[in-house]
Amino acid sequence: MAFKPANNIQDLQYFGEFGGVNPSISDSSTYTFLSAKTMFDTFEGNADGCYLYSRHSSPSNLYLGEALSAMEGTETANVTASGMGAITPVILQLCGAGDHVVSSRTIYGGTYAFLKNFTPKLQIETTFVDITKLDVVEAAIKPNTKILYCESVSNPLLEVANIKGLSELAKKHGLKLVVDNTFSPLSISPAKLGADIVIHSLTKFINGASDTVGGVVCGTQEFIDNLRNVNDGACMLLGSTMDSLRAASILKNLRTLHIRMQQHSKNAMYLAQKFEVDGLKTVYPGLESHPSHELFKSMMNETYGFGGMMTVDVGSLEKANELMELMQTKNLGYLAVSLGFYKTLFSAPGTSTSSEIPEEEQKDMGLSDGLIRFSIGLDADIERTYTLMKSCMTDLNIL
Ligand SMILES: *Cc1c(COP(=O)(O)O)cnc(C)c1O
Repeated sequence: MAFKPANNIQDLQYFGEFGGVNPSISDSSTYTFLSAKTMFDTFEGNADGCYLYSRHSSPSNLYLGEALSAMEGTETANVTASGMGAITPVILQLCGAGDHVVSSRTIYGGTYAFLKNFTPKLQIETTFVDITKLDVVEAAIKPNTKILYCESVSNPLLEVANIKGLSELAKKHGLKLVVDNTFSPLSISPAKLGADIVIHSLTKFINGASDTVGGVVCGTQEFIDNLRNVNDGACMLLGSTMDSLRAASILKNLRTLHIRMQQHSKNAMYLAQKFEVDGLKTVYPGLESHPSHELFKSMMNETYGFGGMMTVDVGSLEKANELMELMQTKNLGYLAVSLGFYKTLFSAPGTSTSSEIPEEEQKDMGLSDGLIRFSIGLDADIERTYTLMKSCMTDLNIL
């Protein structure tokens, strides 16, 4: 049977302390023990079902982690206080001084800055490559390489990673393939395609309410245990632990993710097709003109579509800014970073979320000044949205 990520979330059963249909929230940072011996065993990680201290683990965090690992098809997962709070411990757990990372060059600005500016201080070096070219990726691998890092659908250029091909390279060279799947939850299941570790910023589609930051690392029991090890675990010791109240609220939002993703994808596909016909430079993986359209199709769980992210190039930063301001005035969305909200969000990545990337390199990778990144919302009437957006563009002589 095909892998059904949403069913896997839905089939989990949790009950609250008083028979509630939602699990009880563990509103405590520390836990009491009847015996001192059990406390010692719990600290050492040898007492199943016992809790010691909420940075180590808490029932609410375990519930959310269980649901997310069911979604990704991994053995288990660890939730974190933010997406960066998931990415940085994974890299630091797998690499030490003298190690090397091969990373896609089109990745989230924060991840790029971490690998480019921060990890060199710890003598961890990174080679940034065009992830769509497997031969270039392989040529960058060195004897001290530990990680192959990419996003399934990249931010903000929407390049698609060939996860199967990359996982074969990773296996051949004894590396861990780490995939950030933030842009394509449910649509793409990287672990099923061979990724060793799957990361999400829960801040985006998964929570979908733009009311919190959060993250998750999905992987094998062994790797997650390592991250949580009290002696040398990066999640445990760097302390990017999610709060229990947030874990409970994200779990509730996760249950409607499959419905939201279908609507985001449907709306984005509609607009992308229209804008392309209108002659705008439109990038959306669902368009046949997208260089990785067939690759995305070959990897996707079809029900959920090609996702809610698209970009449009309107020629110049000036035009992009004018258009975004006008669209906001007309209540077609918000001029804001982030993604996965019920409202459409738009921003110019070159001057916002990807501003960590030097201008030269932005040009090199095809990140142009006039690029607007859209996270398409859950609009009930996308035809109306299109008509209004088009009239904004006509008013500004973009169309
Ligand atoms: C937002 C984002 C992150 C970082 O997540 P935070 O929750 O903001 O720390 C990482 N990767 C991608 C692809 C993102 O969009």
